[in-house]
Amino acid sequence: MNRLMEGLVIFVAIVLLLLGAIFLMAASTQDLITGAVLMVIAAMLLLFVYRSQKVEAAKPTLVTQNFNVKMEGTGQTEQNELKCRSCGAPLSEKDLMVAQGAVIVSCPYCKTVTTLEESPKW
Ligand SMILES: [Zn+2]
Repeated sequence: MNRLMEGLVIFVAIVLLLLGAIFLMAASTQDLITGAVLMVIAAMLLLFVYRSQKVEAAKPTLVTQNFNVKMEGTGQTEQNELKCRSCGAPLSEKDLMVAQGAVIVSCPYCKTVTTLEESPKW
């Protein structure tokens, strides 16, 4: 649904609401029912527009796509920066092991065993 259609539906809904209000102010029961029906139709139209807008908003936008790319990039950088604290040798995932809730890194080069305070992001 495009913006013009939405605007038209909202306009019709407002007109129906106003008409319904006028009918509701009338004294006779027949007019009260007519007014109520008009109000319900207007409410349904507004709900329809609201829901179609919600669907539009739920679609992935360029912003969220950029955000995802950024997140992936950050994760990769952290993984690349994983180095031995003693000798600075690059460490891979296989040098890590989880014991008692902590991540233990054992360097294959200098055999230094260090504990990561933060668990890795993967
Ligand atoms: Zn080392």
